[in-house]
Amino acid sequence: MLSKPNWVLVTGGAGYIGSHTVVELIENGYKCVVVDNLCNSSYESIARLQVLTKTEIPFFQVDLTDEEGVSKIFQQYPIDSVIHFAGLKAVGESTSIPLKYYHNNIVGTLVLLETMRKFGTKKLVFSSSATVYGDATRFSDMIPIPEECPTQPTNPYGKTKLAIEEILTDLHASEPEKWKFAVLRYFNPIGAHPSGLIGEDPLGIPNNLLPYMAQVAVKRREKLFIFGNDYDSRDGTPIRDYIHVVDLARGHIASLKYLDQIGGGQGICRAWNLGSGTGSTVIEVYKAFCLACGIELPFEVVGRRTGDVLNLTAKPDRATKELQWKTEMCVADACKDLWNWTTGNPFGYQIMGVVDTFFNVPGDYGSRLITVGRGSGFEASFTNVGATLVDLNVNGKSVVIGLANEAEYLDESNPYLGTTIGRYANRIYDGSFTLEGTKVQLALNEKNATLHSSLQSFHKQRFLGPLVVNLNKNEYTVKYILVDKGTQFPGDVVVSVTYGINIKLQTLTVEYEGHLTKGPATVMNLTNHSYFNLNMFQNSSCDGTKFNILSDKVLEIDLNGKPTGKFVSPGNASKFILSPSGPHFDTCFVTDAEATIDTRTNDLKPVLTAQHPLSGLKLTILTTEPSFQFYNKGPGYIKHHGERFGFCCEPERFINAVNVNEWRDSVILKQGEVYGSRIVYKFE
Ligand code: NAD
Repeated sequence: MLSKPNWVLVTGGAGYIGSHTVVELIENGYKCVVVDNLCNSSYESIARLQVLTKTEIPFFQVDLTDEEGVSKIFQQYPIDSVIHFAGLKAVGESTSIPLKYYHNNIVGTLVLLETMRKFGTKKLVFSSSATVYGDATRFSDMIPIPEECPTQPTNPYGKTKLAIEEILTDLHASEPEKWKFAVLRYFNPIGAHPSGLIGEDPLGIPNNLLPYMAQVAVKRREKLFIFGNDYDSRDGTPIRDYIHVVDLARGHIASLKYLDQIGGGQGICRAWNLGSGTGSTVIEVYKAFCLACGIELPFEVVGRRTGDVLNLTAKPDRATKELQWKTEMCVADACKDLWNWTTGNPFGYQIMGVVDTFFNVPGDYGSRLITVGRGSGFEASFTNVGATLVDLNVNGKSVVIGLANEAEYLDESNPYLGTTIGRYANRIYDGSFTLEGTKVQLALNEKNATLHSSLQSFHKQRFLGPLVVNLNKNEYTVKYILVDKGTQFPGDVVVSVTYGINIKLQTLTVEYEGHLTKGPATVMNLTNHSYFNLNMFQNSSCDGTKFNILSDKVLEIDLNGKPTGKFVSPGNASKFILSPSGPHFDTCFVTDAEATIDTRTNDLKPVLTAQHPLSGLKLTILTTEPSFQFYNKGPGYIKHHGERFGFCCEPERFINAVNVNEWRDSVILKQGEVYGSRIVYKFE
């Protein structure tokens, strides 16, 4: 049972174990806020978590030693409990810069606890470590290691963990009925999320066996070093208790639930080992990873490392009995998931050719400008507001009109430049339709129609993500998610916008996918509203652009500008050169593609070519959609630019389809159905 409100502050949530725990928290109905100073992680993990969980995750780049910064988080969110991962964790480094470790880990925790006290937050789960036990083989009867094993850390890192455990014990003792502390002593976390989207991304040379082997496998490092094969074990190498990071993350949910169910004015401060209870040698893990990646990795046995001990295996019985938690995955599972993560992300969250900057204000990670293909001759830039295409640069020439920052995109005078149009693109006449017997009335933003959804349209909303993936040396995808609920439209939906960038073929693909998540059937019609100008490099109008529209039908329009439902010949509108005297269009051309709710099963067809003699650039637009609106008129429609500065081609469903029997099914989205469509912009 979740307590209400169920907000959990995850400190260090951008890091390895924290990010995996955020997924489990969200899956278990908790709401997460993450604080991290990103000293050993990157915001990319949070952007990916948002796409993976389809959930907004408020993020604060704050150092835990910053009292004011931490207080602001508690002021903004009703934090019910804290999972405290934030800390420096490299054993070797802690021996050379101990003061930094003591300051960061201990002062950070003191500030956190003081803030919790101030705001009345009483529950905390703390990331401790098996390191607090030191060398348990100093006792004859302490392997596997129980929680009762006397502590004796042998390095500054382990000492900071023990010091924090003691601080928690003392604080609990001062008000035993108030504080609820779960101290989790982890053994060796390994692996990655099975989705392959998040994993361990160590900065510098990895300290741990598995990340090191993964880097050898992708040839970032030459070979593995095995530190000593003369231990008293099965094969002479040391024994450790490896635990899949997802199992470990679930241990946090189990302990949070345990704390939640302690009632009646009682507190607790108790330690639990999180381990599998099974020890594996270095050679055994090496073999398991070689099997998972199908490569016989080169290795060299070198001398023992100072501080290493023979055996660190957990006795996890207390967690099994009290938290009802035990590991479910084995070393082989972790190796498989680690290899999946490594092959998809050989340089972790860093991707060659991808750069990002803040698009709103520095530090606001909800709005970034992501550029893909940097230095390749085909660069595309996107931002979260409207999942907008801000710039497309072909051979050094910008070919779409973009704005400088988020505020300009939110300005009422922005004519949807480059943005995603939804939930319903183009016009719904009288702004009304009937669905499942219920009449829906939308706000009108034209005399007799709702255009591009009027209020709450997608172009003003911040999308989640993006998830940027480098598929191979020429291809990237940039995926945004929007959770659209509680609007003037019936039903809640989740929409993804995935841009595909092929720097070799010089193509930009846009793929839309929509699902109804809650409520009755709804309507959907999505498109991109980029204004192209193949002559923009001269800061000039697009006059002179030579068009070939590959369609022999347009939608007939009546005297009120409303489609009659009939298709008619475009006359001489198929081939033309734009000039100040025309032609001017706001016309719906018909492709011969089938109008269904998911048009991605249709072939991609070229529907328009445009070429400008001065730039020499040629654009071909392909789509799976049954129609496209071609638009190039309207005085002053682009702020700061003249009316002849761009043209728009919006592949989509037929205008007003929801009110026309033959087309209705292509825009009505029901439970269990998937909305889909695809557009390609190809340059030569
Ligand atoms: P990680 O470095 O990936 O994550 C820790 C996160 O905390 C990082 O994102 C870092 O940027 C952040 N951080 C550090 N100091 C901070 C500060 N002062 N303010 C705000 N953010 C700060 O490490 P991880 O492997 O995910 O480990 C998480 C926790 O678990 C750590 O406390 C670690 O000591 C503990 N632990 C880890 C292991 C392991 O093998 N990974 C084993 C036992 C215990």
